[in-house]
Amino acid sequence: MKFNTKVIHGGQKPDPSTGAVMTPIYQTSTYAQISPGQPMHSDYEYARATNPTRTALEHALASIENGARGLAFSSGLAATDCLIRMFKSGDEIITMNDLYGGTYRMFTKIFKDSGIKFHFVDMNDLEIFESLINENTKLVWVETPTNPLMKLVDIAAIAEITTKHKLLFAVDNTFATPYLQKPLDLGADIVMHSATKYLGGHSDLIAGALVTKDAELGKKLHFQQFATGAILGPMDSFLVLRGIKTLHLRMQRHCENGQKVAEFLENNSKVKNVYYPGLPSHPSHELAKKQMKDFGGMVSFNFKSGEMEDAISFLEKIKIFTLAESLGGVESLANHPINMSHASVPVDKRLEVGITDDLIRLSVGIEDIDDLLDDLEQALV
Ligand SMILES: *Cc1c(COP(=O)(O)O)cnc(C)c1O
Repeated sequence: MKFNTKVIHGGQKPDPSTGAVMTPIYQTSTYAQISPGQPMHSDYEYARATNPTRTALEHALASIENGARGLAFSSGLAATDCLIRMFKSGDEIITMNDLYGGTYRMFTKIFKDSGIKFHFVDMNDLEIFESLINENTKLVWVETPTNPLMKLVDIAAIAEITTKHKLLFAVDNTFATPYLQKPLDLGADIVMHSATKYLGGHSDLIAGALVTKDAELGKKLHFQQFATGAILGPMDSFLVLRGIKTLHLRMQRHCENGQKVAEFLENNSKVKNVYYPGLPSHPSHELAKKQMKDFGGMVSFNFKSGEMEDAISFLEKIKIFTLAESLGGVESLANHPINMSHASVPVDKRLEVGITDDLIRLSVGIEDIDDLLDDLEQALV
């Protein structure tokens, strides 16, 4: 099946009990047993372990990412937490110096006393990255494109190194989605999603996902999830499943609108830098063309003045774009990273990577492009 068919049919079949074409919302915590330890249906005993609506979503996730096993979590961070808990004191994890704020907060605050050592590096410098690998290194974790600076890393090049050193390699594929980029095909072992964003696609739920290339690793992670409990409920599983069915259509429009917004901003006299992989001025534009099918709907920019006041004034003036956290929904959103999504990153760390006071991140939605450009124009005066 091609991707545009997989989003609708991948891993899906009519519900076996009634033939319902759409998977029902199985709002149940438990399942009847015929005799103690002998459930009526061998796959279902208690819903922390399995629920048919979640199972249907997990099959869809595995299908669209070309993986062996999908797992649906109560949030993106719960998915990340489940994976990191596989490691123990003394293990080392190499990751990037430009990460989603919540991931950075988890690695530095929650796992601070776990004995797991995290290295935060520029993953575009493959030599420095490889020089950090030692016998304790267990996992490499990347995000590409990054939030909010839209930096890219070369998944295939990193996979070559992780394969050579027999390390697990995980990619946060939230920004790109499998419509644009398939990390498992490029050599990664695990894909993570904040399904809250493009997979759900309608800003109406919080959800996360892990997809593994290897069924055995998927089984271990499922045990970990079952034993710790951060599962996705049936209603939200249904909504993510429904969101995935239009992922390809939404992404296509997000990309078209994103490109036009980026070009518009690049030509505006008040704007200094525009961070969008679809612009030839983006430092990884060539890599983006190679690694991604298109360039997505996330665009960040800052002001020639460098003044935070300009960013605030813009954010107070926008009308069609809504000033709000999050991204990836059908509606356009704007975010001020230093006060919102990245407030948990220390000032020196965020300035080091370029998250300045005047930086704005846009999640370009699927509205009419003329209305979006008019809105930006009036907010930039
Ligand atoms: C939002 C986000 C997360 C966290 O996901 P939640 O669903 O909010 O827990 C992780 N990574 C990226 C890139 C995100 O944008």
